[in-house]
Amino acid sequence: MEIEINNKTYRLVLGFEIHLELATKSKMFCRCPADWFGQKPNTLVCPICLGFPGCLPYPNEKAIEFTYKIALALNCKINSEFYFDRKHYFYPDLPKGYQITQWNRPIGYSGYLNLLSGKKIRITRVHLEEDTGKLIHRQGKTLVDYNRAGVPLVEIVTEPDFDNLEDAKEFLENLQLIFRKIRVSTANMEKGSMRLEPNMSLAEVKPDSSIDLPDYKVELKNINSFRFAKKAVEYEIKRQVELIKQGKLPDQETRGYNEDKGITVSQRKKEEALDYRYFPEPDIPVIRINKQDLAKIKAQIPELPIDLAKRLIKTYSLSKEKAVILAKKSNLAKLFETVLKRLKSSPAVKQKTAEKIANILINSRVKLNDPDEIIKLYTESIKPASYDKTKLATAVKQVIANNAQAATDYKRGKESAIMYLVGQCMRILKGQAPANKIKELLIKELNQAK
Ligand code: ZN
Ligand code: MN
Repeated sequence: MEIEINNKTYRLVLGFEIHLELATKSKMFCRCPADWFGQKPNTLVCPICLGFPGCLPYPNEKAIEFTYKIALALNCKINSEFYFDRKHYFYPDLPKGYQITQWNRPIGYSGYLNLLSGKKIRITRVHLEEDTGKLIHRQGKTLVDYNRAGVPLVEIVTEPDFDNLEDAKEFLENLQLIFRKIRVSTANMEKGSMRLEPNMSLAEVKPDSSIDLPDYKVELKNINSFRFAKKAVEYEIKRQVELIKQGKLPDQETRGYNEDKGITVSQRKKEEALDYRYFPEPDIPVIRINKQDLAKIKAQIPELPIDLAKRLIKTYSLSKEKAVILAKKSNLAKLFETVLKRLKSSPAVKQKTAEKIANILINSRVKLNDPDEIIKLYTESIKPASYDKTKLATAVKQVIANNAQAATDYKRGKESAIMYLVGQCMRILKGQAPANKIKELLIKELNQAK
């Protein structure tokens, strides 16, 4: 996306930070249940997740396994030895006064995810941490619920590789599909298990069409749907364009998105990693994963939706649109492939057949799961419509008799007259015969009558 401001061209520079709650049974460093949503406030807590002094955290093995799985699915380089760090800040939803997270040694780094267009989105890092509690603002008071405190949370950071919102949408939807496919999270945005934080700025485009990253970046918080992420970024683009128009550089800051007003509001200005006083968590030893375990996790990762869509397009010449729909529901894609293999279609009819089978699967109102049933539906759909030959013959004769002018026109070489006659036959037959058959018979009759 490029924008003209004061006779200069600017380009959107957009990246994301994604937080994902893992679908483990228990929390990250204690045995409290992790499924906090909708539970009575402050009932899923213990001295560890409440941050009582002297408590020792013990890490959740499943959460570590899930984080490796995510890192591998996103083509990351892997730290097979890692440790946790403390990130200090004061906030009522953070009972310990610090968050256990990963700073210097994330589980995954330097990964990527390719879009359908082939564009590569670089993944900066994938690390494991713990969620905070939740503040509830009610009737001028603020209440705090610690049920969510300590729930395993994975943070995924992308490079600012997006220059438009369509690519961002494709990427984020794919991430959500991947998380569900590899069964590490419900990735439910309404319930806050997948949360988006876009970061963006506007960069001046140089004559060679390249850009340097600008000296500022705005991070957007509190976003719980793709739609709001889009709206928040669109609002920010307008706001930043206005500032640049006035010759000002937008501030480096964190802004919250207000859903009701559709605007972003400044929350914090310029904070640096230094402010958090990161240091290695002394209560948890360094953790190592061996090659065999890593290989086992890798083997559990199935074909990802985007790869599946690409393969369907390549193998069956399926349209992009249909391939994406099928890839989203991998059971449909599987059925699609089974049916096509059974039909053993020749390459000549491959694309048409593939499109038709895809149509049947996508448009079916009932749940299809039997390949035989789909093949039956397909065979019916390609069978030439049956029609009454006597009725057709009568209709043709009648139309020729009633439209002498058109018949004469045709005989004198006016080819287009035939289509008028076909239309008249269709009317009489109420569409109960194929147009090509009508045309064939009309021409035969007219030629005989010469
Ligand atoms: Zn606990
Ligand atoms: Mn985080």
